[in-house]
Amino acid sequence: MATRETCALVTGGSRGIGAAIARALAADGWPVAVNFRSGEAAAPAVVDEIVAAGGTAVPVAGDVSAPGAAEQLLAEAERQLAPIGALVNNAGVNADGLALQLEDDDWNRVIETNLSAAFRLTRQAVRGMIRRRHGRVVNIASVVGTTLTNPGQANYAASKAGLVAMTKAIAVEVARRGVTVNAVAPGFIATEMTAELTTGTLEAVPARRAGRPEEVAASVRFLASDEAAYITGATLVVDGGLSA
Ligand code: NDP
Repeated sequence: MATRETCALVTGGSRGIGAAIARALAADGWPVAVNFRSGEAAAPAVVDEIVAAGGTAVPVAGDVSAPGAAEQLLAEAERQLAPIGALVNNAGVNADGLALQLEDDDWNRVIETNLSAAFRLTRQAVRGMIRRRHGRVVNIASVVGTTLTNPGQANYAASKAGLVAMTKAIAVEVARRGVTVNAVAPGFIATEMTAELTTGTLEAVPARRAGRPEEVAASVRFLASDEAAYITGATLVVDGGLSA
């Protein structure tokens, strides 16, 4: 099945890595639903940019962690564009603090947004993908929680390690139906999330620089493509050698 008959939903697509993923998928011919939570101005700007470049995109508002969000976001994307052929679980937050001081709210918010919401969206999206015998799920994880550990990120690390484990578990469940489920694990990427990074942090990166959102997006675009049909359950690390 040609991917053009289906669309891609990118969560948290209004800025940072998500916006770059939306642009990259659109450039590959995917009609893209650009989900945003609070970026009322930013998401339409990403959409306008895609349309100006000859692509197809629509903004889809909604907090991925809200009750019923998975059903609502997917239905809205399908109503405006086409059945979901690719889901990119990119929306993510951090709420850092040493474990002894970490409040339940900060724990729950990060796990809900980064992991539980990704599960609910995947569960819902994969139903149609299985029926069509074609689908792509790409989860944006992190090197934190898999190969690296940062003090003060117990909640974030647990959410991202959980995302990698979930990726593998669902991948083996749906592999025979033509649906792939993979993760991309970025290192330090220059976005608002890492705006407070010190130069010292970057000295630990063998490439001696932060990554660009487009460099993460290129991996997502590949994993969403037909060429990546035999890759599933994998985590592609994009970190300038940080975890090598
Ligand atoms: P940003 O903080 O720049 O952007 C995060 C995006 O997620 C925003 O568009 C934000 O929307 C959206 N978002 C957050 N919570 C929700 C929600 N509940 N519902 C819908 N959208 C939401 O982060 P990055 O671009 O840097 O990160 C993108 C992903 O990549 C995250 O999952 C992050 O954990 C991961 N990552 C980032 C790394 C980095 O170095 N930057 C490294 C490793 C992983 P809003 O504007 O409404 O807040």
